[in-house]
Amino acid sequence: MALVNEHFLTLPNNYLFSDIAKQVKDYKATHTDRRVVSLGIGDVTQPLPQAAIDAMTKAVAEMADARTFRGYGPEHGYDFLIDTIIENDYQPRGIQLTRSEVFISDGAKSDCGNIGDILSINNTIGMTDPVYPVYIDSNAMCGRAGNLVDNKWTGITYLPCNSDNGFVPELPTKKIDVIYLCYPNNPTGTVLSKEELAKWVDYALKNDSLIIYDGAYEAYIQDESIPHSIYEIDGAKNCAIELRSFSKTAGFTGVRCGYTVIPEQLTVANSQGGRVALNALWNRRQCTKFNGTSYITQRGAEAIYTLEGKMQVKQIIGYYMENARLMKNELQEAGFSVVGGDNAPYLWVKTPDKTGSWNFFRQLLHQANVVVTPGVGFGPSGEGFVRLTAFSSKEDCQEAMHRIKNMQTKNHKQRVKTLFPK
Ligand SMILES: *Cc1c(COP(=O)(O)O)cnc(C)c1O
Repeated sequence: MALVNEHFLTLPNNYLFSDIAKQVKDYKATHTDRRVVSLGIGDVTQPLPQAAIDAMTKAVAEMADARTFRGYGPEHGYDFLIDTIIENDYQPRGIQLTRSEVFISDGAKSDCGNIGDILSINNTIGMTDPVYPVYIDSNAMCGRAGNLVDNKWTGITYLPCNSDNGFVPELPTKKIDVIYLCYPNNPTGTVLSKEELAKWVDYALKNDSLIIYDGAYEAYIQDESIPHSIYEIDGAKNCAIELRSFSKTAGFTGVRCGYTVIPEQLTVANSQGGRVALNALWNRRQCTKFNGTSYITQRGAEAIYTLEGKMQVKQIIGYYMENARLMKNELQEAGFSVVGGDNAPYLWVKTPDKTGSWNFFRQLLHQANVVVTPGVGFGPSGEGFVRLTAFSSKEDCQEAMHRIKNMQTKNHKQRVKTLFPK
C-alpha cells in the first residue's frame, strides 16, 4: 500500500495568491466596465536586459553547432558564471570565496525550499513574521513546522516585525537552531543595518545556530551603509548560508537562475557531537537531485555583469524604485503609514482604522479597483497591513495612487456625514 507524506496534509488548502486571483476574477466578472490595476503581483514586468538577450541568443547559436554544443553541464554551474559572481558580487565587498562555495541553481525558491534536505528534522526553526511563505511551507512539508493552529505553526518560533519594533526583529529569548532572514525584506520592504545584522550573526555563533540568509532583493539596496551580503559581517562564514537570485535583479523570473553560497568552513553538529561541513552535503544533494541550470541561462546571467549589462540592470531597478518612491510619497500624503520602498520594491502599508488585511483588500478592490496583497497572508504579524509592489508600470502606479486618494477623500466625507447628519 502506497502511503502519502501526511505532512503535506497539514498545509492549508488555500494559497494566498490563488485566493486573491479568485476574488479579483469574481469582481471583474460582475464589473466588466472597470479596469483593475494590480499592485499585488510579486513578479517583474520589464523585459530582460539587452545584454542578457544577446548573450543567450549567442548561446543558442552555439547549441546549434556540434563543435560548440553543450550537453549536461556541471551540477553546481559553469566556472565562467561562478567566477563572474565572485568577482562582482563579493570581492568588491572584501569577501573572498572559492569556486566550490558557490552553487548555481534554477532560482532561490528551489534552494530555500530544498536546503532543508541536509538539515535534521529535529531542528527548531525561527522566522521573521510576516515572511516569504516558502520558508514555512517547505518546513511543513517535511514535518518540521508542526501543525497550523490559529494561523501559527506550532513548530516555528515567530519573530514579529511590526510597528512596535520598527519592523526590526528582536533576538529570540531561547536557543533556535535554524533562522531564516530575508533582507531587503519581502513582504515589508525593510532592511537591516550592519549593526542589526551583526547581532544576528553574533547570536548564531553563540548558540551554534544556522542562518539562512535570503538576499533576493540585494540589487535594490540604494543606501550604501546597508549590507549587501551577510558575509560582510565577521564570523558569518561560520554560521550562514546565503541565497541570491537573478529574478528580481535582472528580470529572470521566467528564465530561472540563482545561486547559493555555502562556505567550506560552515559546519553543523551531528548527533555524536561531531561536526559536518554543509558544503559537501549540499554538493552531494545537488549532484543527486539537480542536473544544473541550462548553459543558455548561465550565459544570460553572466552577461548582466558586463558593463552594458550592469547599466541596463541599474536602469530597470531605477524604474521600479522610482515607482516605489512615487507611491510612498502619495500614500504618506494621503495619511497612510508606510514602510519599505527605499531599498526594496515593496511597500508595507498599515490599513486605516485597524481594518483587517482582507477587508482592506476588498475595499481597495471594490472602491478603487486596485489589487494589493493582504499582509496577513504572510503571517499573523501581517494582520492590519497590505503589501504593494513597485513592479507595475509607472502609469499604473500613478493611476492606482490617484484612485486610492479619491477613495480616501470619499470615505472621509462619508464618515463626516454619518457623524454629523444635517
Ligand atoms: C522572488 C523571491 C525569491 C526567489 O525567486 P526565484 O525566482 O526562485 O529565484 C526568493 N526569495 C524571496 C523572498 C523572493 O521574494
